Amino acid sequence: MPHPLDRFRHDPSRRLMLRGAVATLLFGVAGRAMAGSAVVAVRVWPAKAYTRITLESDAALKFNQFMVPDPDRLVVDLEGADWNNELANIAARIGTDDPYVKQLRAGRFKPGVVRVVLDLKTEVKPQVFTLEPYGEYKHRLVIDLYPAKAEDPLLSFGDDGGKPDVAKPEANAPTTVAKADKAEKGDKANKQNTISRDKLNTTRMVTIMIDPGHGGEDPGAIGKGGTYEKTVTLAIGKKLKALLDDQPNMRAVLTRDDDFFVPLGERVVKARKVNADLFMSIHADAFVRPDARGSSVFALSEGGASSTAAKWLAQTQNDSDLIGGVRLSVKDPYLAHTLFDLTQTATINDSLKFGRAMLGSIGEVNRLHHGSVEQAAFAVLKAPDIPSILVETAFISNPEEEKRLIDEDYQDKMASALLAGLQHYLAKNPPLARNTLAES
Ligand SMILES: [Zn+2]
Repeated sequence: MPHPLDRFRHDPSRRLMLRGAVATLLFGVAGRAMAGSAVVAVRVWPAKAYTRITLESDAALKFNQFMVPDPDRLVVDLEGADWNNELANIAARIGTDDPYVKQLRAGRFKPGVVRVVLDLKTEVKPQVFTLEPYGEYKHRLVIDLYPAKAEDPLLSFGDDGGKPDVAKPEANAPTTVAKADKAEKGDKANKQNTISRDKLNTTRMVTIMIDPGHGGEDPGAIGKGGTYEKTVTLAIGKKLKALLDDQPNMRAVLTRDDDFFVPLGERVVKARKVNADLFMSIHADAFVRPDARGSSVFALSEGGASSTAAKWLAQTQNDSDLIGGVRLSVKDPYLAHTLFDLTQTATINDSLKFGRAMLGSIGEVNRLHHGSVEQAAFAVLKAPDIPSILVETAFISNPEEEKRLIDEDYQDKMASALLAGLQHYLAKNPPLARNTLAES
């Protein structure tokens, strides 16, 4: 709840007039407003995509930001923040490997104002915003540093030794030289034709968007043994990408390849940017009862959720944006428009087929929690034109399954099962030629 005096503090014109009255009041009310807010934690999530710095405080922080050139610095003044150890030790939060921040420092700038300075390694586009308390988190001031020049999603997710993925003859081009870059590495160009005659009976590159759930500030579910869902989903996602990239005519792109937060809508946007044929979100389930176990597969529902549990789960997963933190002004306008797209029904039918194929193969490595594909309104499954599923690989809240989830062998088996599920689906439902084929 906002402090009754907050609205006056926002308004400088009233400030003078009310100063006397406020001072009297404050003296009477005492405590918090006068003491300012205490920064209780500083967290940094460095990643190539963007670096996030979070200042958590027991009351909302008011801030003022500006850039200073030569050398590039971002200055964030915190009004009414108490000087304390968290701020005094802020420099230690930045590792030398941070892609954007050379140094982080803070100091008492003038009475009532703490100045935080970020010495930058490169030109950035900063976004500074606040988040309301949510779950375990108190008020948060978030400083996101994006690269000044937005990277091409295909370039930034490529892992072929820095070789841009766009060089691959993929997506929009009919090709009999799929994975040409790999063939070149093998220096036998005439092998290309045989390589392209793959099991999937498709003549173009199929792009799979793999979405490791949660990340950064949003840990996802946490196991009793301390395992974070975000860590497990990333490990399995990376293994699956490696397996997929080894297949002829298949290419995988990750929505995140590191421990950083990606808003749900942004994950969908990324999939559409790379022209993904299929989208698969990887998660680990949690339930209040520790004996809940098994893997599940979800697709988007048009109406209500197929079960109360599915509805509850969709709710908790969709809360990700509140936990991880999305600046409200940029929150998925895209999704609002596509929600009722007519193609969605057809896509949901394909998603259900995709999900059934996946259940079949996952059932080989883990017990199934639910024998059929469940449906609920997951925000991350709302691409109108890309068959999308969400896989709950196992229950991280079940101590036995938590142990399996952090076991490399199990992660490998799960990744192989996910690959097999994808292949089964694609064998029966080969992706259509792109519209652009006719023109080329
Ligand atoms: Zn999850």
